[in-house]
Amino acid sequence: YYNSKTIVYFNGNFLKAEEAGIDLYGQSLHYGYSIFEGIKSYKTDRGTKIFKAKEHYERLKRSAELMHIPFDYQVGELMELTYELLERNGFSDAYIRPLVTCSSNMSLSKGQKSYLSLLAWEWSNGYLADKMKIMTSGFQRPNPNAFKIEAKVGGHYVNSILACQDAKDKGYDEALLLDEYGNVAESSGANIFYEKDGTLFTPAKGSILPGITRQTVFEICSELNIPVKETFFKPEEMRGADAAFFCGTAAEIVALDSLDDVPFTKNWKDTASGKIQQAYYKLVRGLSL
Ligand code: PMP
Repeated sequence: YYNSKTIVYFNGNFLKAEEAGIDLYGQSLHYGYSIFEGIKSYKTDRGTKIFKAKEHYERLKRSAELMHIPFDYQVGELMELTYELLERNGFSDAYIRPLVTCSSNMSLSKGQKSYLSLLAWEWSNGYLADKMKIMTSGFQRPNPNAFKIEAKVGGHYVNSILACQDAKDKGYDEALLLDEYGNVAESSGANIFYEKDGTLFTPAKGSILPGITRQTVFEICSELNIPVKETFFKPEEMRGADAAFFCGTAAEIVALDSLDDVPFTKNWKDTASGKIQQAYYKLVRGLSL
């Protein structure tokens, strides 16, 4: 992720990644009490553009609020700092990881002081990733009555690591996690859609991180007149459907091969999902649909 030249933004300054010290006595390191974002920038005809930067930083501020973490940066300021970070590193197609940690406090009460770090590394697209074989995980998504599930919190991802590693150990590429009622929720780090007879279905909010890419898919569907429904459904309802995909900032739109070894049946190129993938590819690069 970094080398001796990599610049990061940490607590008010741009400095070499190697020189950023960390506080060992803090709630973030000990309890996973941190918030973060995953953002991507792309090379476009009009220079480097951060895709949906405003939406990502609004979500970061909302995460801070939900987690009682003091965080005073304004969205515009965060966007400017991020463009500066990309410029200082000479990056265009990149993944950006803003991270807000709480330090100098080991108590179990709310954060007293926060630190913002902005990290970035070069990342050319995951768009060409092979179709993924996924399995229904035995690990459930965290119960929304136990966590602020719509916030992007460090600690939540321990659940993601468990589910993802379990799927890999069993020979799959990714896990599909269910909610406490057995409804499909999402993967370890992306939202899911499936397609049947030209209509798309995706889990309604409740036990998912409401993704910015998920929202972008709704916008593309509206643009391309593709019907889409937010609803609750069981894995049985999507097994053997025409097509399915994961979507997220890092994953972009990635086609799924099968769920629990039952293949999705239509030729990807002939599906509405395939059209959405093409449209997303263009949209992030500032091309017309
Ligand atoms: N769900 C989870 C658990 C995630 O970690 C992510 C990635 N941030 C997503 C969904 C997709 O969110 P987005 O489209 O905003 O990247």
